Parts: sequence; structure tokens; C-alpha cells
Amino acid sequence: MRSLTFTCPRTGRVIEAGVNTDSRTLSSVRTVTLRLQCGYCGMPHAFPIESAFLSQPSYWSARKAIRFGLDRIRNGSVS
Ligand SMILES: [Zn+2]
Repeated sequence: MRSLTFTCPRTGRVIEAGVNTDSRTLSSVRTVTLRLQCGYCGMPHAFPIESAFLSQPSYWSARKAIRFGLDRIRNGSVS
């Protein structure tokens, strides 16, 4: 699953919609318009789903990195 993100048209900053989806689900709802209150400029924005892009939540890669590190330590102790 990936996090649905939009770009604020006023500040150009990335807004996470707080919706986790994947590209297959996204293509089935691409005609839907999502309305949300922007946390950067405080204005309500309406984003067509088809203008959204998907990003991997940053904490996922951090957890993956930690797990990778632990595996390396475990492998090192075995050999
Ligand atoms: Zn905004």
C-alpha cells in the first residue's frame, strides 16, 4: 500500500491525504474529486484523484532499514 499525496497549489508542498491505496484502486476512483483542508496554507483544496501521486510512507523504508540491519547482525553471528 502507498500513501496518496497531492501538491498544494499555493505553497508547492506535498500534502499527504492520509489515504493508503495502490495504483489499481486508484485507477478505479480516478474520476473522484477529493476535498481537504490544507495544513500549509489553511485553504480548502479540491484535488481530482487522477492528479494525485503515490508515495511510499517514509516510516516504511525506515522500518525496512532496521530489519535489514538486524538480519545482517544475525547472519554475522551465525557465520
Ligand atoms: Zn494549500
